[in-house]
Amino acid sequence: MLAEIQSKLGKAAKLADRNMSEIALIAVSKQQPDARIDSALEAGLRIFGENRVQEAQGRWQPRRLLFPDLELHLIGPLQSNKAGDAVALFDVIHTLDRPKIARALKIEMDKQNRQLPCFIQVNTGDEPQKAGIAPTEVPEFYRLCRSEIGLDILGLMCIPPIDEEAAMHFALLKTLVDKLSLPKLSMGMSGDYEEAIAFGATHIRVGSALFGARP
Ligand SMILES: *Cc1c(COP(=O)(O)O)cnc(C)c1O
Repeated sequence: MLAEIQSKLGKAAKLADRNMSEIALIAVSKQQPDARIDSALEAGLRIFGENRVQEAQGRWQPRRLLFPDLELHLIGPLQSNKAGDAVALFDVIHTLDRPKIARALKIEMDKQNRQLPCFIQVNTGDEPQKAGIAPTEVPEFYRLCRSEIGLDILGLMCIPPIDEEAAMHFALLKTLVDKLSLPKLSMGMSGDYEEAIAFGATHIRVGSALFGARP
């Protein structure tokens, strides 16, 4: 399944007149059996995404020792009391979604002397139950995170509503990222990563298409 995804990724990149090397495939390993993770590592994958800090610690702390070139991305919601564990384990945070968590992360990054790059999660569908900053509030939150708190903001991330065309959400996120002159876009999952690439995704987060359905 990895070969198929890499081939589709390459084709989508070419179609968009983009270089495949500027698109990171994040293998979303949450809830997957260890055997599948170890096969992926054997196949050479090194960039993984997890959505829960505790689950990720159990899985990745031991594997870190065996694969020092691992790159771990937190793609799920973060509680401020887990900020310390998250900073210690992960390399990139995709889910910066409120001032409290931004401040908690910065305190931990300073304490651990690990300045992790972050994405701001944007609630592109304005869904009340979903995490993320409302599109209209992104510039102000970005200013707060970067200038006031001092975080390294790479770009924006979104999870489109399941019952809507993903394309318009990808387009909106691309517009927002360009307005702020930020370089990176975390968008696209198993069902829509090719489309996300067409809209400029630099980080696609692929789980089930890569590993099979989560048990
Ligand atoms: C689970 C998850 C994914 C991967 O979803 P698939 O449909 O299995 O590819 C991507 N992004 C986030 C934020 C997730 O929680």
